Amino acid sequence: MERYKRQELFIGKNKQKRLNKSIVAVIGLGALGSLVSELLARAGINLTLIDRDVVEITNLQRQVLFTEKDLGELKAKCIKKHLAEINSNIKINSSAIDLNFNNIKLIRNADLILDCTDNLETRFLLNEFALKNKIPMVYGAAIRDKGTVMNIIPGKVCFNCIFNKSSSNETCDTSGVLNTITSLTASIQANEAIKILTNQDYETGLIRIDLSNNSITRLGLKKNPNCSVCNGIYEYLNGKKDKDFIKFCGSNNFQFRRKNNLEELKKRLSKAGKITGSREFIKFDNIIIFKDRVMIKADNENEARSLYSKYIGD
Ligand SMILES: [Zn+2]
Repeated sequence: MERYKRQELFIGKNKQKRLNKSIVAVIGLGALGSLVSELLARAGINLTLIDRDVVEITNLQRQVLFTEKDLGELKAKCIKKHLAEINSNIKINSSAIDLNFNNIKLIRNADLILDCTDNLETRFLLNEFALKNKIPMVYGAAIRDKGTVMNIIPGKVCFNCIFNKSSSNETCDTSGVLNTITSLTASIQANEAIKILTNQDYETGLIRIDLSNNSITRLGLKKNPNCSVCNGIYEYLNGKKDKDFIKFCGSNNFQFRRKNNLEELKKRLSKAGKITGSREFIKFDNIIIFKDRVMIKADNENEARSLYSKYIGD
């Protein structure tokens, strides 16, 4: 196809064909996720996009696909729309859900997973899913002016071999992040994904990118013989670690998982104040209600819980 000519000249017809047949699942459509999906869509790769959030004003500094018109809309929906305008030849599925052990089978048909999430729980869940189903995964993270990328290949070193549950979980919300490092990290992630999909030599170490001195370093990795996941124990995938209540690191977003009747809540809450939203969610004050969960922005857990019982109830 004319569209991929420049890329095909470099990688060859067969690798291009392979890309056009591939499906990549992008989990998390923030700074990394929005850019990797754009790069992969332009390269001709089919996508499954998953994100639980709506677009906020603080996202626009680095989450490249969103515009001011998207504010308040679901990220998954917006990105699907923008990417379909960029490349109508690829298949794009998008879901505005909170990925958990119950619904993760949604990405079972993926040839590769891109971990662009912002929380450790989902990363551990994805790691177990990828290893169990023998799907390669590319992990990416960026904070301040530093980025990290790691390929997780079934049978080799896994995420759980290297990181543990108490690993530092600084986030962009607490430490800040530059859009230059998110772009660079996402580019390396997308490039590793393409190498893996087309059977080229890929990075086997941990890549650290530091824009303060423009260095890229590689850390050699070794499988941890005591790693529970490598030994076939899947605590996240079995739901043992699943929590109905989750605080998202740093972002002051508290999530309560529960089934909601949006029509009923709309009627009830409209008596208490102004309601906005769409068919998929309703927004009331600092509360966003989806069919499968409630997200509340609050200063602390107590405040979130009290808003939850005041407006949503048990
Ligand atoms: Zn492991």
